[in-house]
Amino acid sequence: MAKTPIYRAYCDARAANDRLRRLQTATLAPKGRISRDGRVLVNFASNDYLGLSQHPVLIEAACSYTKRYGAGVAASRLVTGDNPEFSGLEARMAAAKNQPSALIMTAGYQTNLTALAALAEPEIAGRPVTILADRLAHHSLLQGALLSGARLMRFRHNDCGHLESLLRSRTAKGDYCIIVTESVFGMDGDLADLPRIGALARDFGALLYVDEAHATGVFGARGYGLCEDVPDLVDVAMGTFGKALGGFGSYLACDADIRDFLIQRCGGFIYSTGLPPAVLGAIDAALTLVPQMARERELLLSRAEVFRTTLRAQGWNCGASASQIVPVIVGGEAETLTLAAELERRGFWVAAIRPPTVAQGSSRLRISLSAAHTGEDIASLSASLSEFAPKNAGAT
Ligand SMILES: *Cc1c(COP(=O)(O)O)cnc(C)c1O
Repeated sequence: MAKTPIYRAYCDARAANDRLRRLQTATLAPKGRISRDGRVLVNFASNDYLGLSQHPVLIEAACSYTKRYGAGVAASRLVTGDNPEFSGLEARMAAAKNQPSALIMTAGYQTNLTALAALAEPEIAGRPVTILADRLAHHSLLQGALLSGARLMRFRHNDCGHLESLLRSRTAKGDYCIIVTESVFGMDGDLADLPRIGALARDFGALLYVDEAHATGVFGARGYGLCEDVPDLVDVAMGTFGKALGGFGSYLACDADIRDFLIQRCGGFIYSTGLPPAVLGAIDAALTLVPQMARERELLLSRAEVFRTTLRAQGWNCGASASQIVPVIVGGEAETLTLAAELERRGFWVAAIRPPTVAQGSSRLRISLSAAHTGEDIASLSASLSEFAPKNAGAT
């Protein structure tokens, strides 16, 4: 008998509900493509919104940094890992976000988990702390909130009225409050009302922590996210270099006090090896390219708008999407998997997102558009989806 039947039983139960997660070997290819099982498919599943992961300038910079500095930094940034390139990249990132300073860390998941845990520690605040998080905020943010030991309350998605009433009651009790939201929601593609949330944070003396994972590279005057445009309302703007910026790693843009504090107290910074030089090279190249890509961003968002309009006319539910991320909310797990498989047969790679990542009954295709796609790629995906569209259901 296996030593670990509990774990097998868990996986078997997931499989029985069409929820088993599987690794599927793949390599990204230029022009918004993906290569898997010997086929090249149009990739509508990644977060490579600008196509930078395959950009020759990023690849070249990653190679040249490696040749100059080696393959790794062999310690935390506080020991031997503070490569001289960090300070210049952080200065550029701070300027990009219109914030006084920035801190570059490894995976965004680790950053949210450990930075939020540090910022919300009741022992540091010297009074009870409440984290008010949007119900759809990323798993890493919720885990960070739990790790902090603060009280965690979730407000209804994008519901500022609900947020306000929670802020009112917790601040009346004397709590220090931290508001946590994404600016572009990863699974729904809708946007937070940052000016309004920021005004609430200011009125109630709360700290506002915004995750720009899906906004970085796509939104904002110079492409650095929605916080770029409302810097005075946001205390901590976090984002990743692993999505539209094509590489890996993450940043926090904030004032110097918060940055200094995190260097003292954020375990994911203090006890983790610094980013390797190749990754710093890719970040350097991306920070040069992103501000020059206004035309690509405009095209991407206008194509997304047309795509949504087309899908809605076919009868699909695209939720409140207002970005390059367009969900097609199907409902059940099995139907969603079937639809994804049909699209794969037609040459498209699309992610089927199921519970617990999204709520029960809201399984969906998460279609992410990229500036690397052609208009024709998107039009042919629309045409394939129309074969299965609710409007055509029952037609022969
Ligand atoms: C992807 C993602 C992260 C994690 O970032 P990584 O750099 O991939 O670890 C954090 N927050 C949100 C909203 C994300 O979508």
